[in-house]
Amino acid sequence: MKHLDSQNFNQKLETKVKKVITEYNLIDDGDKVAVALSGGKDSVLTLQILDKLLKEGVFDFKLLAIAIDEGIGGYREEGIESARNNAYQLGVEYHEVSIETELGFSLDEASQFFQTACVPCGVFRRHLLNRTACQLGSDKLATGHNLDDEVQSFLMSFARADVRRFAKFGPKQDRIHPKMVPRIKPLWLVPEKEVGIWAIMNEVDVHLAECPYAHQSLRSRLKNYLNHLEENHPGTKMNLLKFFQKNLQLDKKKVKLAQCQICGEPSSASTCKACEMQELIKQKL
Ligand code: SF4
Repeated sequence: MKHLDSQNFNQKLETKVKKVITEYNLIDDGDKVAVALSGGKDSVLTLQILDKLLKEGVFDFKLLAIAIDEGIGGYREEGIESARNNAYQLGVEYHEVSIETELGFSLDEASQFFQTACVPCGVFRRHLLNRTACQLGSDKLATGHNLDDEVQSFLMSFARADVRRFAKFGPKQDRIHPKMVPRIKPLWLVPEKEVGIWAIMNEVDVHLAECPYAHQSLRSRLKNYLNHLEENHPGTKMNLLKFFQKNLQLDKKKVKLAQCQICGEPSSASTCKACEMQELIKQKL
C-alpha cells in the first residue's frame, strides 16, 4: 500500500515538473543542463526527476551536477556527501567547487564582516555556479527553487525595493549575456511541503539539517510568516505566485549586463559584486 501511495505521489510530482518544463520551454533538444546540487531535498529532487525524464527519453538533453562547498563548518560537509552520493548513484557527471579553494577564504571566515552570512553566501555561490556551468559548456543551470522559494524571493525584492530582481521571477531566465547561463526552475509549481513528503516517503538520501546561519535571514522570517498564512488560509502561496505572474512581469530583455573588469564575469556594474566583496574580505582578514 505504501509503495502504491508513493508511486502515485511521485507520479503527480513528475507531472507538475513536466508541465513546467513543457509549458515554459525550459529545455531545448540537445541542451546541456547543469543542476546546482546542494545535497538538500530540493536540488536532489530536481536531479532525480531530470535524470528520470532523461533516461525515459521524455526530453533529450545532457545532464551534469555542480556542488558548491561554501565552507560552513559542521553543516556543509553532510550536504556535499549527499550531493556526491546522489550524483554517483545516478551515474551523473559531478563537479565540486570550494569557495575556500577558489577565493582563499571560507564563508565562516567571511561572514563576520556582514550583517548576515547569506549576503556573501548568495553572491559567491551564484558567481561560482555560473562560472563553472559556463566553463563546462552548459546551456541551462537548473536550480531546486520550489514554489515557496519563489514567493519568498518575490516578497524579499518588495521588502528591499529591489525592482531589478523582479526580472529573475519565473521558471526560466533569458540569456542576457553570452557568459550568463540561463537559470531554469523545474520545481516552480511544487510546494516545499511536497518536496519534504517526497524525500521522507521515498527514503531519499538528502541533507535535511538547517544551515546555522538561516535564522539571520529575511528569507527565513518570510518563510515562517508565509507558512503561518498558508496554514490559516490554504492556497495563499499559490495565489501570490499567480498574482505576481499576471501583474508584475518585468521585461527581462531590458536587463542589460556588462563584463566585470576584474574577473570578466557578467555584471551590472564595472566590477561585479563577487570581486567587490572578495577585495573587502581580503583587506579585513
Ligand atoms: Fe548560505 Fe544563508 Fe543559505 Fe546558509 S542560509 S546556505 S548562509 S544563503
